[in-house]
Amino acid sequence: MANMSFEKVKMPEQDPSTRAGNFKEVSLGYTAEMAVEEAKRCLNCKNKPCIDGCPVNVDIPTFIAEVAEKNFEKAYKIITKTNSLPAVCGRVCPQEVQCEGKCVRGIKNEPVAIGRLERFVADSQLSKVSEKTKTFSIKTNGKKVAVIGAGPSGLTCAGDLAKNGFAVTIFESLQVAGGVLMYGIPEFRLPKAIVQKEIHNLCKLGVTIQTNVIVGKSITIDELFADGYSAVFIGTGAGLPSFMNIKGESLGGVFSANEYLTRINLMKAQKPNYDTPIFESKDVVVVGGGNVAMDAARCALRTGANVKIIYRRSEEEMPARKEEIHHAKEEGIEFLTLNNPTEIIGDNSGFVKAINCVKMELGEPDLSGRRSPIVVQNSEYTLECDTVIMAIGTSPNPLLRNTTNGLEVNKRGCLVVDEYLETTRKNVYAGGDAVTGAATVILAMGAGRKSALRISELIGVG
Ligand SMILES: Cc1cc2nc3c(=O)[nH]c(=O)nc-3n(C[C@H](O)[C@H](O)[C@H](O)COP(=O)(O)OP(=O)(O)OC[C@H]3O[C@@H](n4cnc5c(N)ncnc54)[C@H](O)[C@@H]3O)c2cc1C
Ligand code: SF4
Repeated sequence: MANMSFEKVKMPEQDPSTRAGNFKEVSLGYTAEMAVEEAKRCLNCKNKPCIDGCPVNVDIPTFIAEVAEKNFEKAYKIITKTNSLPAVCGRVCPQEVQCEGKCVRGIKNEPVAIGRLERFVADSQLSKVSEKTKTFSIKTNGKKVAVIGAGPSGLTCAGDLAKNGFAVTIFESLQVAGGVLMYGIPEFRLPKAIVQKEIHNLCKLGVTIQTNVIVGKSITIDELFADGYSAVFIGTGAGLPSFMNIKGESLGGVFSANEYLTRINLMKAQKPNYDTPIFESKDVVVVGGGNVAMDAARCALRTGANVKIIYRRSEEEMPARKEEIHHAKEEGIEFLTLNNPTEIIGDNSGFVKAINCVKMELGEPDLSGRRSPIVVQNSEYTLECDTVIMAIGTSPNPLLRNTTNGLEVNKRGCLVVDEYLETTRKNVYAGGDAVTGAATVILAMGAGRKSALRISELIGVG
């Protein structure tokens, strides 16, 4: 019988006061009973608008119908036809503006909890798939493709190419595969063991991953072609942090969010007796209003600091997922919206001791469509702090364009591609944040998939 409840089945979570002191996952996931109950809220609509809202077009109502019948393995097979990282996407996709944003149940009440159901299905099958599935045997086509970067775009592109018979090698500059999923998004939102299991399943398709290889330094794109690769996919992301260019940004105790998060997520700097100890902070100011700012703030909180987020617009304009803002507030992070830093003040030894700020108000909409922030006259004030984390955006690293002939970039440093995601260099494709600038996991995956399809059409049959 259909479940006509107005609200989603609630997701069990760690209590805010407990979780503020640990890095364990905040949302604990549905039980099978909860998943079945939530699945029964789906109306299996004739038009299925939710599918259009999903950038990789997962057949949402069909997988949900299988969940309602407790056929979790079948549901997993349906999802993984078009999404190779469902346990990741179920956790971090901004469903509220994608599939759930289009759900018919959401017009009057809460939409079906599509993300939570995707996560449940993936988690329930992940270990089973890892254990049961032997390495796939796929007929090879004799062609080699190099993928640069093992983030969501590169991994998806590699998986799809391998399924089409290519011998695929991913070259990754860090010591582990996963990109932002490993070094950026913290453990309490996305457990690293889950990411590695999904990557492990992808590798069973025959993809080889070479870590600690910086393309542009260890090897160039020209050398890859000379080595017999027929095509190259660039999925190197947008890892170069932006700063505000205000006085004091070179003081000790000022970090980019990328550096701060990498130290914690990848180097485990917050743990005792690690070689890369975290900067010990009492009062942290995080500047920015996106997911990156929320992640940095919530990590700092878990190291025992008092944390404030400074954002120049109002909460309504914050680009972070609503759930992350809600969780950050519940955990005790203070939000100073409509405020903006103007200078960071140092002490005699060159470390941060305070930050000067001004109050802001909102004017007319700017090019982004959001109301633009305007400084309120005579509103300067000083806030004491010992750490400032800048989370105001990133752009692609210029290394590849500087070491590869014929690769054009736009004003923002993003690679220029055509409608098929081919760059200005023949047989070199690109997608994800390297092309769009900082965006989302699912959009990066969609680009990886699109490039793989094009490479397969043009090169796979020749
Ligand atoms: C802190 C944080 C939180 C986020 N939260 C969310 C969220 O909740 N939901 C969401 O959808 N999105 C989120 N995002 C955005 C999302 O993670 C990215 O859009 C997505 O990871 C982009 O994928 P990608 O494959 O293009 O690049 P990346 O994930 O950046 O991967 C690029 C990979 O390429 C490697 N690389 C770079 N240069 C080279 C080179 N020269 N040679 C070899 N390897 C190289 C890098 O080491 C990296 O592993 C977040 C981002 C950050 C930073
Ligand atoms: S729009 Fe919502 S209710 Fe309709 S099929 Fe999709 S998930 Fe189910």
